[in-house]
Amino acid sequence: MNSTHQIHTLLADSRLSKKHRQIAEKVLNEERISFEEGVFLFEEGELAYVGVLANYMREKRHGNKTYFNRNFHIEPTNLCVYDCKFCSYSVLIKDRSDGWEYTMDEMLNIVKSYDNQPVTEAHIVGGVLPQYNLEFYTNLFASIKAHRPELHVKALTPVEYHYIFKKAKIDYATGMQLMKNAGLDSMPGGGAEIFDPEIRNQIAKDKCTGEQWLQIHEEWHKLGMRSNATMLYGHIENYKHRIDHLEQLRALQDKTGGFQTFIPLKFRNKENQMAHVPESSVIEDLRNYAISRIYLDNFDHIKAYWAMISRNTAQLSLNFGVDDIDGTLDDTTKIYSMAGAEEQHPAMSTKDLVKLIKAVGREPIERDTLYNVITDYTNVAFDDEPKPKYYALPVVNN
Ligand code: SF4
Repeated sequence: MNSTHQIHTLLADSRLSKKHRQIAEKVLNEERISFEEGVFLFEEGELAYVGVLANYMREKRHGNKTYFNRNFHIEPTNLCVYDCKFCSYSVLIKDRSDGWEYTMDEMLNIVKSYDNQPVTEAHIVGGVLPQYNLEFYTNLFASIKAHRPELHVKALTPVEYHYIFKKAKIDYATGMQLMKNAGLDSMPGGGAEIFDPEIRNQIAKDKCTGEQWLQIHEEWHKLGMRSNATMLYGHIENYKHRIDHLEQLRALQDKTGGFQTFIPLKFRNKENQMAHVPESSVIEDLRNYAISRIYLDNFDHIKAYWAMISRNTAQLSLNFGVDDIDGTLDDTTKIYSMAGAEEQHPAMSTKDLVKLIKAVGREPIERDTLYNVITDYTNVAFDDEPKPKYYALPVVNN
């Protein structure tokens, strides 16, 4: 049954409440849902219901296409001047010997180690430290571009930029222009956490506010550049906080159109100061993907990080609004594994990613960071790919 058939079947069900029906009709008619309707979906939208709506929106935009890229991460340091309660990754400066701090040369050597590989993106994020300042990062971006001009540099979040620009005593517009001039191609979506000031203050005190996070993205978009957005969910926030977060992203996207992808980030409770807070269930994760897809009607893509939620949940998410499962990673990120993700050494070959996507009936598309198609793997068969097996069902004689 395709997604159009599914939504019509849903609407034909006489047991559907008036409110559920109104929202489903809005989705079918491509009308935007309101703040209250978003909260209602979280409170009273069962998984099967929100799944049908989100899958309809996903397939209308992308059909069966599912995107991934070939990327690697550079995490300059895990030391940090901040002390976010949910962070399993960072080490305070007073415990310096427990962390790592890459030099410029070490980071360039990581880039060079991919010289003969068809990666398209370097994703650079890490902790915040004084020595990684304006001069350091503009030099790093310029050096990467000088070495490999076509490699897309997707780097740092407003958390780092706010800190760097404040130290350099320059405003956001000037700072982002300098980063662009140095070779920054796009900004990842991290550091958004949850915008609500009270919750943010409890879990991520002192770093940039939600308002500042949005301002930095706005300045970047004004330069004609693209970025992503995230939301950390499943901790001490409530459903209104989630919709408030999505609402602020939707409003900025209406203004600039600069966001490409929204990535919900599941709170993980290992090795951090919020270990007492239980993690969300897989059902809640899938509902969150679906409602994000429905609410963010002006975002092209919804991404699930397979390294964060596991390969199986990533596959499931492709029926709940998700159309992108990130990249090969090559075991270059520790952010998820240190927080307790099932993937302790996240790396997948292109072949593995393609198989993972095909196994659930979707079409794997390798993309670059800006979603230009590099290879459509829909009809590409690998030599060792097992042929589908069909098992005859026992015949029941009347
Ligand atoms: S989440 Fe980021 S800013 Fe916060 S402590 Fe961890 S590394 Fe630092």
